[in-house]
Amino acid sequence: MPSNIRIKRLCAYCGKEFEARTTVTQTCGNQCAKLAYNARKKAVKIDGSHRQTKARTDIKAIDTIKSKEFLTVHDAATLLNSSRQTIYNLIQAETIPAVNISVKKTLIRRSAIDHIFTGQPVIPMAPIKQIDTTPLEECYTLQEVQQKYVISDKTLYDLIRRNAIPKQYKGRYAYVAKTHIDELLAGSSTH
Ligand SMILES: [Zn+2]
Repeated sequence: MPSNIRIKRLCAYCGKEFEARTTVTQTCGNQCAKLAYNARKKAVKIDGSHRQTKARTDIKAIDTIKSKEFLTVHDAATLLNSSRQTIYNLIQAETIPAVNISVKKTLIRRSAIDHIFTGQPVIPMAPIKQIDTTPLEECYTLQEVQQKYVISDKTLYDLIRRNAIPKQYKGRYAYVAKTHIDELLAGSSTH
């Protein structure tokens, strides 16, 4: 249907101002219409290819994680498609047993993740810890304990384990109550 409308528009391809004859005209002419169409087609193709690449990378990452016996918190989060905080919360709630092999490294046995889904009982890797609800301002991070008492990762880890000192997790840090630590270490540090 012929139309008398003239709408001033900017060409979607070259950006030049033109008079559109229909309300749906986006480009100044056939040339730009064709180029714009090709550009759109190319963009869709690239987008699809990026998505495929990402999907392949994700599958590969998950395969790698599935082949490991021990997972980092990041691995577990990837596997469960959740955030790291969620994993720390699950550790805190003792839904997932985990060990701190050093101040900054928490490991989770992959089979424990599987157990969550199969509903089989999880065999604890360490003595069952009590849940610590000490307010964080009355806690040290493990780094703070190390700095205050000048002890190694291993010494601190052994100490916590031997004395079954309850830990709590917030973000990537594990916290221990100052009272527990000071009771154990304050006496021995005055030499
Ligand atoms: Zn144009």
